[in-house]
Amino acid sequence: MARVIFALCYLALFWTKPALASLSEDLLNIVSINLGPSSLVNQITEVSEAIDKANEKIIDLVAPTIAQRAATSCLITNLIFDQNVHTKASPNYTEDEDINWSQTCRLPAACFIHPQSTVEVAIALKVITATGTKFSIRGGGHNPNPGFGSVDSQGVLLDLQDMKIMSIDSDGTLHAGPGHRWIDLYEFSAANNRTVKGGRTIDVGVPGFILGGGMPFFPALHGLGADSVLNYEIVLANSTVVNASHDQNPELFRALKGGGSNFGIVTRFDIQTYPLLRSQYVVNLYNSSDYLNIFQATIKVQDSMELDPKIDMYVTVTPTVVVVGMFYADWVPQPPAAFDPFYQLESLVGKMVPLTNGTVTSLAVDLGANTPQYNARLRRIPTAVTTTGDVELYIQNHEHFLKILDTVEPTFAANLSYTIQPVASTTVREGNARRGNSLGLHSIPQIWWSMVVEWADKKNDLQAQQTLNALDSNLRSIANSRDELIPFQFMNDASFMQTVLDSYGSDNLARLRSVAAHYDPTAVFQELQNDGFLLHKIK
Ligand SMILES: Cc1cc2nc3c(=O)[nH]c(=O)nc-3n(C[C@H](O)[C@H](O)[C@H](O)COP(=O)(O)OP(=O)(O)OC[C@H]3O[C@@H](n4cnc5c(N)ncnc54)[C@H](O)[C@@H]3O)c2cc1C
Repeated sequence: MARVIFALCYLALFWTKPALASLSEDLLNIVSINLGPSSLVNQITEVSEAIDKANEKIIDLVAPTIAQRAATSCLITNLIFDQNVHTKASPNYTEDEDINWSQTCRLPAACFIHPQSTVEVAIALKVITATGTKFSIRGGGHNPNPGFGSVDSQGVLLDLQDMKIMSIDSDGTLHAGPGHRWIDLYEFSAANNRTVKGGRTIDVGVPGFILGGGMPFFPALHGLGADSVLNYEIVLANSTVVNASHDQNPELFRALKGGGSNFGIVTRFDIQTYPLLRSQYVVNLYNSSDYLNIFQATIKVQDSMELDPKIDMYVTVTPTVVVVGMFYADWVPQPPAAFDPFYQLESLVGKMVPLTNGTVTSLAVDLGANTPQYNARLRRIPTAVTTTGDVELYIQNHEHFLKILDTVEPTFAANLSYTIQPVASTTVREGNARRGNSLGLHSIPQIWWSMVVEWADKKNDLQAQQTLNALDSNLRSIANSRDELIPFQFMNDASFMQTVLDSYGSDNLARLRSVAAHYDPTAVFQELQNDGFLLHKIK
């Protein structure tokens, strides 16, 4: 009798628990669900035996090393995608390695995988999760934190730059793949008589910019870059593809507005554009020694920004020159009186961009064309601080900046600079009017400071980091002592050492955690993703 019961139990178990599908079957399933092309089906079918053999080999190992896992991912994806996977032996490997903006991020990934479509992203991610491989995702490669849009030889890099699709609907909704840089979207939307809220630098990648919130031109008009996103197409950790919008997966939608790479790989952004915006702009250069007057002028323009959302400005301070971008969202016969405080300064030493009546697109293009030549050899690190705006704070901070500069100059060659980005309270209200984001911003006038250290020699890495830390902590302590420090840290300007998501406030952090737990229950984006502003890093 006992034998009969045992046999029945065994059979029941057998019938209710089918044998696990092989990796190649899983991959074919992904293609089928996502209506992928028959060429992909044929290719996977043709190499299915080799895929499963490679995968089983890694499963059979008692404790495969991280490098063995990465090598297996490279091997399997190479079987499927062939020349779109670049290993050290490929002719384009060095080109891939050198894409990142900062030299510190040019890392020798085990391989660079270049998916061409959403279904290929889903397939690559399935291979990565099946083999337990460390990975990073790269859009435009402009994030200067090493290991974010880059990975060393122990992991694989999913490079999305080939995923360039762009179209626009009659209602002005722009659809863009994650391989685009902002120049593409600016030119495409202008050709369609529309304006898109994109980066102030044309070659910044679309995905990283938006996932970090995105500081566009004229933020007081339509909010941040992320505020204009209507829908994200995203590949989740289990390789399913979903849309996140106000109507579908609304909590995920909100989380993606500033929550970074914690939830999946975004494969398409659907972005609201606006009627073509006329813009009058000029970028002036002032002698830094006139900083007292320059900061007085800055404060006056900031005050005007509260009254007129068409005013936009940034002030980049270097040891010798202060770069002041003055932008107005209309063509006016005379530059707006709000900018008079700058026009009255006697310390003008030149113009980076002359006074121009153009559009946001021409502004972005002119800025790009007139920015000093980009030096690809430099290593760069950033940090982000938020404060309220006050001239005394600016002066004290600058005087500390000069002292730090004095200590750096004799020891190693470095460029130190910081940018004052005034954010009017309207910017926050515009975001809220578009159903909000994850950043936890308060509707008050505020300054998003971005500080950067650039240097050339790897041997000075530690000194560079110490210098940046000094710049950051000086500003923080001055602002704190004046009760002007705001906890928020802007992800797009932040250092890997900062706990950005924590700075969004406990409610937002809890919501982000709950979205991650729901959409990525096995914590793929926390444990296998190489680095980023990840939730698991916040204690
Ligand atoms: C010269 C320069 C100018 C800048 N100007 C501005 C500006 O005007 N406004 C502003 O807000 N910021 C600006 N930034 C900051 C910039 O927006 C951030 O560094 C941003 O992260 C860069 O995005 P990316 O796609 O180019 O970078 P990447 O390094 O490719 O990616 C950045 C992060 O996003 C993740 N990621 C990329 N693609 C995806 C995806 N599809 N799905 C999920 N995660 C993904 C990456 O893993 C990485 O963690 C500037 C930076 C530089 C260097």
